[in-house]
Amino acid sequence: MNTRTPLIAGNWKMHKTIPEALETAARLVELSGDLFDVEVVIAPPFPALAAVSDTVKKTHISVGAQNLHWEKQGAFTGETSADMIVSAGCRHVIIGHSERRQFFGDDDNGVNQKVKAAIAANLIPIFCIGETEAERDADQTFSVLDKQVENGLKDLVSEDLENLVVAYEPVWAIGTGKTATSQQAQEVHAFLRGRLKKYVGNAFADSVRILYGGSVKPENISELMSMPDIDGALVGGASLDAETFGKIINYKKQM
Ligand code: PGA
Repeated sequence: MNTRTPLIAGNWKMHKTIPEALETAARLVELSGDLFDVEVVIAPPFPALAAVSDTVKKTHISVGAQNLHWEKQGAFTGETSADMIVSAGCRHVIIGHSERRQFFGDDDNGVNQKVKAAIAANLIPIFCIGETEAERDADQTFSVLDKQVENGLKDLVSEDLENLVVAYEPVWAIGTGKTATSQQAQEVHAFLRGRLKKYVGNAFADSVRILYGGSVKPENISELMSMPDIDGALVGGASLDAETFGKIINYKKQM
């Protein structure tokens, strides 16, 4: 039986000033007041992390950063370390998002170092993987994902990965309005769970949460969540408006 607690994360990307972030967070606190069986994470931009963490303290909502640097400190202008993120009140960090891979040169090796740095600082990594449209069209979806998992989690064993969250985000579905069908997503999630068995063992693969990301909205969340291997969602655009994200995190009320 699937005993994994669903996790829904909102990735605000480069949106919201500090006052805007606080307003959204405060409304989400109200909208998640009676939510006990779904974990909610919001990932505001760096400047808003500490203030948002304060706003959601002692609520059901946790805060995550959208990236980190793997070194503990040093001459790395513009970068942020895991300890700094922890000190801003974060429990989670998104790593390897396709926009980081596409626009900022994050590769599997860097992603692997970031996952290790997050784990060393007791942060929960939300490890993102996904194929492009060209790769899907060329029937390379499974081989691309396999490589991303193998390289991204290199040298890590199941004890390290106890809290790891995986996010499958087909690049062609991010911000495009094109959602993978729930069957397409389920097929990939089941494949990923199988591969995780190979790399880090059965117990881990059974307990790891695999989120789906890519144009998740109030209209498709219930259907996605009804799939046996979909344990939550990583939501971009539809997480920016508190009322809309409120509907997504409260999807059980629609079911
Ligand atoms: P989207 O983004 O929901 O806007 O498609 C998802 C993501 O990038 O995590």
